[in-house]
Amino acid sequence: MTKIVIVGAGFGGLQTALGLEKKFRKKKDISITLIDKRDYHLFTPNLFEVATAEEELVSVKQLKSSVTLPIRKILGGKNIKFVQGQINSVEARQNRLQTRGKFIDYDFLVLALGSQSDFFNIPGAQENSLTLKDLPDALRIRNAVEFAVQNHRMDVNKNTLRVVVAGGGYTGVELVGELKGLVNFLAWKNGYPREKIELEIIEAANKLVPGFDDRLSQDAYDRLRDLDVRVRLSARIAAVDSHLLELMGGEKIAHDVLIWTTGVKACDMYMGSSMTLDKKGRLPVNGFLQLDGHHNIFALGDIARVLDQAGKPVPSSAQDACDQGKYLAKAIPYIIKNQTPPKTYVPNKHGFIVNVGGKWAVMNYKGFYAKGFLAFVIDGLAHLNYYISIIGVWRAVKWYAFQLEMYDRND
Ligand SMILES: Cc1cc2nc3c(=O)[nH]c(=O)nc-3n(C[C@H](O)[C@H](O)[C@H](O)COP(=O)(O)OP(=O)(O)OC[C@H]3O[C@@H](n4cnc5c(N)ncnc54)[C@H](O)[C@@H]3O)c2cc1C
Repeated sequence: MTKIVIVGAGFGGLQTALGLEKKFRKKKDISITLIDKRDYHLFTPNLFEVATAEEELVSVKQLKSSVTLPIRKILGGKNIKFVQGQINSVEARQNRLQTRGKFIDYDFLVLALGSQSDFFNIPGAQENSLTLKDLPDALRIRNAVEFAVQNHRMDVNKNTLRVVVAGGGYTGVELVGELKGLVNFLAWKNGYPREKIELEIIEAANKLVPGFDDRLSQDAYDRLRDLDVRVRLSARIAAVDSHLLELMGGEKIAHDVLIWTTGVKACDMYMGSSMTLDKKGRLPVNGFLQLDGHHNIFALGDIARVLDQAGKPVPSSAQDACDQGKYLAKAIPYIIKNQTPPKTYVPNKHGFIVNVGGKWAVMNYKGFYAKGFLAFVIDGLAHLNYYISIIGVWRAVKWYAFQLEMYDRND
């Protein structure tokens, strides 16, 4: 029996597992095991909607259903064994994984564990901020904003209540844009003067959503300014405490709620001393997404350092993780037979869509540029397309309609 083990049922791991299952469905001598510490697949692009949903309008149960899919339901009827468990280390010499004292053997291993928030060793950042990486994070954010408004209801001496987002990439921009609806509602519900609540986003680069074209950054900036969000660019954070964050120049900025979205680094996975990681903790891979010196181990998505044609690392994105998962589902069958796959992995240039408050987005897809409601609709269709790839048309349409209904309450 040839054992293929995939760790991580996120964007990359799931595409690998589903693709391999299609190929090996009738093969009795190949087993596919998918392992994840969670029992659900998380659709991260909708997390900002969960973080900004008011508790009276949408329940926690509804929110969870809107952004997660039970892994066992996705795999229902397929020839993939699912194991829920946290993997602590890979013992590459013995071809086995370790999970809470137990071992899981493999012949071929795919590592798709994703990433974690990067605090860049800024003193106090981790202890004094909230992150947006998982469902509990999103719920913590909405609770923190709600508590902040409730706690200061009677405090007539407090001039402003400040919700600050550190990091002006797409996660920060989407979150702060949508927070406006939440704070409007909370101010009304708690009888708190709306003009006392300030939303601010701080970015170290000289534009929002760095890494993408200037026009998109400028439109996102203008939209946030229209939503009354204060945008601070070229501002590097040096230190954080429970009420203030300090910029490199010495300026201090007050915060009642601080959300950290400055970037990610790879998830920690102990692989023994032989593995060299890059500065973001990622595992370098070759053109077949194999680890150096361990050709039966593959890595993809946020945990892998995949290079593009120009030799630059591919940025973290769900789209790239999915592409890599699909590639591996084609390449692994050759490698199992000791053959060389016909092609190495070549990253695609993807389009990019950023939601900026309500039913408004800005997008650049291979030269097609749009902003406003049209870009919002195209974003929805891109999401739907992904859902169809994992749960089929009918369930995908139902899930998408449910999300539209839940998130409409945020606007
Ligand atoms: C808020 C937010 C919004 C985003 N929006 C977009 C977007 O709009 N478009 C886009 O392209 N990208 C977006 N991204 C980025 C995208 O989510 C990631 O690039 C993508 O999830 C990476 O896929 P992956 O398969 O590498 O990891 P993931 O999808 O993160 O999956 C990793 C899986 O591994 C599991 N795992 C981790 N450690 C262990 C362990 N030790 N043992 C067992 N299981 C483990 C996790 O539970 C998880 O299920 C967003 C990210 C965030 C946080």
